[in-house]
Amino acid sequence: MTDPARMLEAAHEAVRLAAHVCRDVQRRLDDVRAITKDDDSPVTVADFASQAVVAHVLRERLGEIPLVAEETSAFLRDPDHRTQLGAALEAARISWPEATEQSLLDAIDLGDAEPDPEGGFWTLDPIDGTKGFLRGQQYAVALGFVRGREPVLAAMACPNLSRNHAASLETPDPVGSVYLAERGSGATEHDALEGAEPPTRLDPGASRSDVGFVVTASVEKKHTSRGDTDRVLELLTEGGAEIAPPARLDSQCKYAVVARGQADAYLRLPRKGGYVERIWDHAAGSLIATESGARAVDLAGEPLDFSLGRGLESNRGIVAVREPWFDRVLDAIGRLRRE
Ligand code: AMP
Ligand code: MG
Repeated sequence: MTDPARMLEAAHEAVRLAAHVCRDVQRRLDDVRAITKDDDSPVTVADFASQAVVAHVLRERLGEIPLVAEETSAFLRDPDHRTQLGAALEAARISWPEATEQSLLDAIDLGDAEPDPEGGFWTLDPIDGTKGFLRGQQYAVALGFVRGREPVLAAMACPNLSRNHAASLETPDPVGSVYLAERGSGATEHDALEGAEPPTRLDPGASRSDVGFVVTASVEKKHTSRGDTDRVLELLTEGGAEIAPPARLDSQCKYAVVARGQADAYLRLPRKGGYVERIWDHAAGSLIATESGARAVDLAGEPLDFSLGRGLESNRGIVAVREPWFDRVLDAIGRLRRE
């Protein structure tokens, strides 16, 4: 593996520049919708542009990059989607001025590597939380480097998440935040736009929540079981815990909120049907949370295994919890599973 510090610096630059692209498209949502005559197109356009910029920056800085990313260029190469290709190129040029249609498509395709846990590989969600992006709320650009079973480096931009931990999670912040983590070395929080506040180290100490147990979970009802989440909270209450209102937000920003100590747990309890979680939805976020003092496991309390391809095939559900809550939450989930 190349020098981890150099890799993390490249990853930081990549997600920062991609966040710049996403922020610009989010500001122009209605214009992009009008050009492409499609309500969801802004997220499509920003998704491709973000992936192209991340791949381009990593390759420029690091040379060979094994990258497993969510998107392929097939959609943009379709002659019926020339408008989207033009819009994605325009979006990418904010951060990559020399991009051409060809270099943009080629950069997107750098993301089609097969996961190689032995050699190590990057995994990217160019826009995680697409619904949040379209609503003008939280989303993330999430980049992790996996080696063996675990992510070992993470860089995640949350362009609308304020570094003021007391600020509302619903109101988009004009500066936003970026999180970096290296396994064994902790996690740091940075401004997403350059130049303002200096970075801070996230405190791996115990929960700072004085309002009771705060859970964070998806806005999207299809992505998590609300009934099971409510039941876990009920069981914690029976055990004597005070429960605060849940923080519902899109994307891996949920892991950042746990990493900051603003929430005690991120619960992603599977609904019926057995969804297999994608590695790019958890690699960056889970490392940032664990390097900030949380533990991230599945419903059975087993570690997340990122070495089994594009899915977390051996895990069901995701539970990321800060102390002093870990045992109580896992007990409640154990009881729920037996019920
Ligand atoms: P969130 O913003 O946390 O609600 O999750 C967004 C992610 O959920 C997307 O990146 C999808 O990959 C993933 N996703 C899609 N379908 C499901 C599902 N049925 N259960 C859980 N996650 C899903
Ligand atoms: Mg995603």
